[in-house]
Parts: sequence; C-alpha cells; structure tokens
Amino acid sequence: MSRIAYVNGRYLAHAEAGVHIEDRGYQFADGVYEVVAIHRGRFFDEEPHLDRLKRSLDALSIAPPMSRAALKHVLREVARRNGIRDGILYLQISRGVAKRDHAFPKNVAPSLVVTAKRTKPTPRKLVEEGIAVITIPDIRWKRCDIKSISLLPNILGKQQAKDAGAFEAWMLDEQGMVTEGTSTNAWIVNRQGAIVTRPAEEAILNGVTRLAVKRLAAAEGIAIEERPFSLAEAREAKEAFLTSTTSLVLPVVRIDSQPVADGKPGKLSLKLRALCEEAMAR
Ligand code: PMP
Repeated sequence: MSRIAYVNGRYLAHAEAGVHIEDRGYQFADGVYEVVAIHRGRFFDEEPHLDRLKRSLDALSIAPPMSRAALKHVLREVARRNGIRDGILYLQISRGVAKRDHAFPKNVAPSLVVTAKRTKPTPRKLVEEGIAVITIPDIRWKRCDIKSISLLPNILGKQQAKDAGAFEAWMLDEQGMVTEGTSTNAWIVNRQGAIVTRPAEEAILNGVTRLAVKRLAAAEGIAIEERPFSLAEAREAKEAFLTSTTSLVLPVVRIDSQPVADGKPGKLSLKLRALCEEAMAR
C-alpha cells in the first residue's frame, strides 16, 4: 500500500506531497505539531493530544484550521488510507503561506499536514536492559510547554546522545536541575522511594504519556512528587525512566555512563510501563 498524506484539504501520494516554499512552517518554524499513537487500530489518548494542540495553537495565536470533529475525521481517514493498525499519526499546523515577513500575515489560512506511519514495537531489549542518557545544557527558549515545530536544540541534543551511544539527552537548566529529554519526559525514583518528575510549567512539554503515567499511578495509589530534581539526585536515584508517546515508559540505567543503582531496570519503572501497556490494550 503506498503512503498517503493529507495536505490542506487533499489526500496526496506521500512521495509527491508538499507545501509551498513560503509556508511559514518552512521559513520560520512558525507552527505546532502532535504525534498520536495508534494501537491495534485505536488512537491512544487522542483527546489529551487534541487538548494540547489547542493550547499550543492558542499560545501562538494560530487559528485552528478546522473543527475538532473534522480534524478527528481527517486523522481517521489518514490512518485508514495508509492501512495503519499499529503506528503513529503526525500532524502539523503552521500559520500558513505568506510573503516572507516576520509579523503575522493577515487573512491567511493555516496549513495542515497529516501523515501516518507504521511502527515496530519497542525492542524488548530496550525494556529489559534499559537505556542510557547523557546530560547536556538546556539551551531552549522559555516556552517549552508549546509543542512548536522549532526543534533545533532538541535535534542537536538527540544527535549528541546518538554520537555518545545513548538513547536520549536529558537537559539541565542553569541551576543544574533536569528539565526533560529532547523528545521525552524525565523521571526518577529517589533514595526515599518517591517518584519525582518536574512540574508541567513553561520549562517542559507536558507529555501526554507523562499525564497517562500520573493518572495510572494515582489509580494504583502510587504517589508522584512533582518538583524539579537535580542531576546529583538523579545520579543517586534508585531508578530512572523516561516517557513519550513513541517510547511509552523506558527504564534509564545509565546517566553520563554511570549506572543508576545496580544498572538494571527498576521495578517501579517496569510496573508503570506495564500499566501503560495495559491501558493501551484496553
Ligand atoms: N518532551 C519533549 C520535548 C517532547 O518532544 C516530547 C514528545 N513529543 C515529550 C516530552 C513527550 O511527550 P508525549 O508523551 O506527549 O509524547
């Protein structure tokens, strides 16, 4: 089956789909995006993704290109036309196409692009053995709560991690506190056994998986402390893990080449992953 992309009202062959060279997404990274997981034909946590999309659009004063119901229809249609049962949907909205000028254009319709791709399950090895992270300075702007397509610091950080043989880079603010990963949220289980993650303010993206873990943990009576944690605390933690739509929950077993506790995935991390997998299968 050949891939199909939705671009501004049309379903096009993926290989030929494109936007105009003066699309503000292309020229200024003036846009936002979302990634939604599809599991056995069902969208996981679609509503929280669409809620966050709305918040990102509002923060940038970009009008929604269509109603929520219409967008949900397009998402389903892209998944269907691509025959995706297990995979991800990518959707991007930019301020639209206009003659290049920094200030907002008038009377311009936002651009909407939706693509879908099949994904393989996370290799069991990553879950069973855990993954490594490096740490880097957080050089991003002060509104990381907006899911902007402007991702230069994130891609530079991810490449640094890859070059170092690590899965992710955790970013540190000027106080040495962990903000988040380049495309994941960061968590630890500290010496006292508390699950700690940074509060969702403007320094991080409020991950939909982060919210799912909070919800599932609460239902099990597992407490979560939302406060910044330092690199020093992470190094001494009993467990560490990261969360995202594409990784779900992955145990972090090395930080800057040093093992976390005994260097094996922690019990709570694996328990939270299992809870997420169950929730997706429901
Ligand atoms: N932080 C950043 C910077 C991200 O890009 C992502 C992935 N979009 C996340 C966290 C995790 O968010 P989610 O659980 O919604 O995928």
